[in-house]
Order: sequence, then C-alpha cells, then structure tokens
Amino acid sequence: MNNGFGFVNLDMRKKIVAGNWKMNLNFQEAEEIFESIIDLYGDEDSENPIMIICPPYPFLEVGTDLTDELKICIGAQDVSSHSGGAYTGEVSAAMLDSMDVEYCIVGHSERRKHFNESSALIKEKVEQLLENDVCPIFCCGEQLEERQHGKEFEVVKSQISESLFHLSKDEIENLVIAYEPVWAIGTGLTATPDQAEEMHAFIRKLLKEKYDEKVAENMSILYGGSCNVKNAREIFSKPNVDGGLIGGASLSPDDFYHIYKSF
Ligand code: PEP
Repeated sequence: MNNGFGFVNLDMRKKIVAGNWKMNLNFQEAEEIFESIIDLYGDEDSENPIMIICPPYPFLEVGTDLTDELKICIGAQDVSSHSGGAYTGEVSAAMLDSMDVEYCIVGHSERRKHFNESSALIKEKVEQLLENDVCPIFCCGEQLEERQHGKEFEVVKSQISESLFHLSKDEIENLVIAYEPVWAIGTGLTATPDQAEEMHAFIRKLLKEKYDEKVAENMSILYGGSCNVKNAREIFSKPNVDGGLIGGASLSPDDFYHIYKSF
C-alpha cells in the first residue's frame, strides 16, 4: 500500500473522514479540488484522523499521484464483483490495488437503489476487495419508512449479517463500516448525534456478539448523511462515532478540510 498505513489490521480504532465525490466534476475541476485540499492539508503528519478522498474512477490516478508523498488516502466508489475478464465497463479490485487505491466504498444506498445491488452482490464485492488488499468502506442504513416503522435496527442488522458475517475475524478487521441513514443522504436532513450514536453502538454490539470485543472495539464506524461544517463536531464527539463519510460537502475543499478537523 502506498502510504503504509490505514490498511492491514486497523489494530486500533482509527478516526476517518472520507469524501465521496459521487459522479461530479470534470478532470480539471477534480485536479483543482485535489490541489486545494492538499494546500489546506499542508504537511500534516498525523495518521489519525485519516483523510480519504473517493473521486470517480477516471480521476483516481491524478489523486494517487498528487497525494503520493502525503498521508491522504485515495478510495474508489465501487468495484466489480468479478475478478477480471470479459465484463465490459467493470473495474476490478486488483486494478484498484495496482493503482495504490487503498479504500473502496461498497453497498452505498445509491448503488443499492439505482443499480439494484443486493446484499449477495455486495458480499462478493467485499470479498474481491479483501482478496486484493483494498479496504472496503461498507455502507448500511435504513430508508425513512423503515425508521418510521421502527425497523432501523432490523434493516441494518440484515445488511451487515448478509454481506459481512461470513468473514473471519482476521478479515473483518480490515474493513470500515459507514452508517448512512438513506433519508439523510443528500437531503439536508441529518440524524441527530444521539440517533447516530445509538445505531453505532448497536453495530458494535452486533460485532461483539458475532466476533468478540476486540473486533467490536477496533472497528471504525463512520456516520454519513448531510454531515457538514455545522454538525460534524457534535456528531464526531459521540463515543461510537469514528468520523464521517461526506458527500456534498466534500466537493468544497474548505468545508471538507473543516470537517476533517472537527474531532
Ligand atoms: C454519501 O454520499 O455517502 C453522503 C453521505 O452524501 P451527503 O453527505 O451529501 O448526504
């Protein structure tokens, strides 16, 4: 791995702020945002919190090149469930690894919704990533109606158990979980810090029951859903919240850096 940290046994719980640029920007704009974030980041030398930027595939290389000497990590937004071959348009986990891409978002609600991604498919993607030393950022979260019917814990439990609980203890330690209530993504509605804390504590309890206390305690669990400069500090102050997966606000270098500094 290029930066030599952040993957392979997250043997203490890491604070992380990851930006998901989604399908935004052209090449020049992406380059400018990378450069602005790097200017703000300066010569930070701390490995904790970790900053991860997840641009669209075509901009990954400019990201890994520009951040090569820095402790900023680059992540992809998706990966193929196949290892390689005749799958036109797909990008394999081995390709990501060969480009020094250290992280990859999987199971984002936009992919579950618009591309009908099932828990079974996401499970295969997680496996591909782990086999190729790319750390999955596994997203889970309930829809608004599910929360209104009191089903949020049941939904998150199924998503996690269906896509992750086949993993061994050693494997699951190389993964990050992002709790993203679907009703809060891109809507301006944010879970309250207490709602986020409650779900994160629940996820940690699931991990403890399935694996053990060490796995549960070491897992970085990020909150995502309209996290911004105004609410990040309060959300990140909760004991079970280890940082954020940031969509819209990650397109503003100033806002993203401010959120990164919100611990
Ligand atoms: C996301 O895309 O994962 C996300 C959390 O988006 P936003 O911050 O825009 O709600």
